[in-house]
Amino acid sequence: MRLFDLTGRVAIVTGGNGGIGLGMAEGLAAAGATVVLAGRNAAKGAAAVTQIVRAGGKAEFANVDVMDEKSCRALIDGAARTHGRLDVLVNNAGVNIRKAPDQLSAAEWRTVIDTNLTSAFVCSHAAYPHMKKNGSGKIINIGSMMSIFAAGFAPAYAASKGGIVQFGRACATAWAKDNIQVNAVLPGWIDTDLTKNARREVAGLHERVLGRTPAARWGQPSDFAGIAVFLASAASDFVTGTAIPVDGGFSVQG
Ligand code: NDP
Repeated sequence: MRLFDLTGRVAIVTGGNGGIGLGMAEGLAAAGATVVLAGRNAAKGAAAVTQIVRAGGKAEFANVDVMDEKSCRALIDGAARTHGRLDVLVNNAGVNIRKAPDQLSAAEWRTVIDTNLTSAFVCSHAAYPHMKKNGSGKIINIGSMMSIFAAGFAPAYAASKGGIVQFGRACATAWAKDNIQVNAVLPGWIDTDLTKNARREVAGLHERVLGRTPAARWGQPSDFAGIAVFLASAASDFVTGTAIPVDGGFSVQG
């Protein structure tokens, strides 16, 4: 369907070399976009590129540390220069350090905030002139259930995920005049490397998630292909500033 067609579009997905980012990248590539997967782990990046190319899509890996401003700017400007345009930016790279607020060091706080939130600012800031020149653009920020709720073991993570939604709303408001839409996706509990660690570190988490999620399962990265295509395509041209849960009903369960 043309409304969802991304042929000729160029998309960058930070953390696109695995997990939810790869699930989104696969959706974008299947809809026709050329996708730049940005991350630190080149072996994961090569495997992800192969997976997308084998399925008939176009993808490449860019070695990037989103904690480093120069690295982010080189990613965005490099992709726009190589491909002649930048249409979609997915700010997905993220980490968590699970400790109570009184146990977390300032350095650990900065690691989480810089990775999850400051990188979204730097990448969006770098992407804006390219999208403005294009006359259109789509920015998709990855929040969390912790954009809505909180947990005692995730103070910096919850702050970063609340912040990314509000940062996105500010961008949505500022850049609507440039035909740039900025939205957030709020994943529920998804089976990825990130949550494999959480299941190890937080006793009883697996069962609590199953019990609380109306869909009665953990999400999979492939559950994010559809929302990525929707928010990257013309289908969402009048949708901006939203935060859409993709959570099997977790956030509406009383
Ligand atoms: P993964 O650990 O599988 O993916 C995280 C990705 O972020 C990796 O590909 C990693 O790449 C990348 N990344 C982390 N730090 C950096 C860095 N400094 N520079 C570049 N890339 C970096 O976890 P998920 O797929 O689960 O997480 C993706 C996003 O979804 C995160 O923002 C997370 O907070 C969010 N989320 C996840 C949920 C879940 O249940 N899984 C729930 C709610 C939100 P590399 O390995 O190369 O470092």
